[in-house]
Amino acid sequence: MDLVVQDAVFVTMAEDAGPADGMLIRDGRIAEIGPAEAVRAAAPGAAVVRLGGATVIPGLIDAHCHVADVGYLAAAADCSQPAAPDIAAIQARLRDAADRTPEGSWVTGGGYAEYKLREARHPTRAELDQAVPGRPAVLYHTSLHACVLNTAALREAGFADRQPDPPGGAFGRDSQGRLDGVVYEAPMFALFARNLHRDIARMGAGADGGLIQAAGQRLAAFGLTAACDADMRRDTFAAFAEADAGGRLSQRIYGLVVHDQIGAVRQGRHSGQLATEAVKIWADGGMSSRTAAIHGTYPVPPHGSGILYFEGDELTAMVRDLDARGFQVCIHAQGDRAIETVLDAYAAVLTPGAGNPRRHRIEHGGAMYPPLAARAAALGIVVASQPGFLSALGDGFAAAFGDRSDQLYSFASWQRAGITVAGSSDAPVITADPLIGIRDAILRRTGDGRLLGPAERLPARDALALYTTQAAFACHRENEIGSLEPGKLADFVVLDKNPLEVEPEQIPGIGVLATVLGGVPVHQAGDIFPGG
Ligand SMILES: [Zn+2]
Repeated sequence: MDLVVQDAVFVTMAEDAGPADGMLIRDGRIAEIGPAEAVRAAAPGAAVVRLGGATVIPGLIDAHCHVADVGYLAAAADCSQPAAPDIAAIQARLRDAADRTPEGSWVTGGGYAEYKLREARHPTRAELDQAVPGRPAVLYHTSLHACVLNTAALREAGFADRQPDPPGGAFGRDSQGRLDGVVYEAPMFALFARNLHRDIARMGAGADGGLIQAAGQRLAAFGLTAACDADMRRDTFAAFAEADAGGRLSQRIYGLVVHDQIGAVRQGRHSGQLATEAVKIWADGGMSSRTAAIHGTYPVPPHGSGILYFEGDELTAMVRDLDARGFQVCIHAQGDRAIETVLDAYAAVLTPGAGNPRRHRIEHGGAMYPPLAARAAALGIVVASQPGFLSALGDGFAAAFGDRSDQLYSFASWQRAGITVAGSSDAPVITADPLIGIRDAILRRTGDGRLLGPAERLPARDALALYTTQAAFACHRENEIGSLEPGKLADFVVLDKNPLEVEPEQIPGIGVLATVLGGVPVHQAGDIFPGG
């Protein structure tokens, strides 16, 4: 059925488009966009949806998030700040969670940042024991690069007091050298993966599809029509494939398959909504857990210089192999030392003068200072980054990076250097709401109101481009999505205000009236569109 959408302001994000107040949708694609009269004339029999002056933007794209984890952690106790301002509040929330957690599953909380707590430190194993005695409990740090375990969880995980730090990770210890319950990096990832996959298995057949569906609905309510899942594994791929086959995906999912899982996940475009053409590698730790690999040492706990997962030669060999097999390589790199190692690997593999045809990426790029940005630009590296970190985690960055914090996530400098920067959330590390990311790219205000790198603020249109045209490019989908143009997929969002017109502070308050994927509504407030 032909559908004309009109009486709206269209922010097309197309390069040289004229003004538009009408759009014709046919077979899931945009057939015409322009003056409403001309659009209607092209399809006299079309149904008409009048939007009463609302704003239509391209469907938003999250170039790096963890879709399955969003679904999983949606069920955990919310221990984020300011919701849980101190350790007593976290204990109360874990106590409540214990009442509704089935026997055999770990009592789970998530979202805290120690520097936002009144005590300004991680909770301890003893404090978790007070809240949840006798059965395993885990509290995930908002970065998902650290967590706290109670005594029963430490025991079940096989972590003992006299044990040395495991490879690629570290344990927090008290003044006597006993484990204080905090676990950083590699053993934390292993625990998270084990708990996620065990809980999926425990929920029984179809539950993992339900988790994907729950996450998809959450993302659709934020106006997201496409997302890169930055942690695709054998079982989560199976869950996505099952949801896709059942028509229950609310986004186009572009999977970044974890490098040691590529033998277990089919590669390619599986449907219009599910693809696995990219590979994910982690080069270092996280910014807010202060485990990103930097030159120098952190002035804040756990001190040190961060964690680098691969030696340069090893990483180069991996990139060379994956590149030869046709994969787009996406490497998590936050600290300047890690970014340097990644750029060395890309430089060794890419042919000078031939650009970066597979669009190999750096994920995050937090401390990509000017000389590194210049190298990345010369190599044609795409960066998938997270403006929303600035309000959610920026005060912690300022404490950990001091004078250099104005140079973190330097979006304006990167753009000027010629780097394609794709917007993303890294949810559930922070909220998946792209309107918050857009605001933060414009304002760069931390939670405490500090301005982080004022010279790096972007104009509103450039901020929106991060989550539309540029994110589409980062997924090799710029001919399909990212702007409203004839021939592209009818993926769009109806907003109650124009994000390019309102004060930036008001952008997160803009209402998402409808999210439409291939001409079909996947989220709407009311009955604007038929067929939802
Ligand atoms: Zn991530």
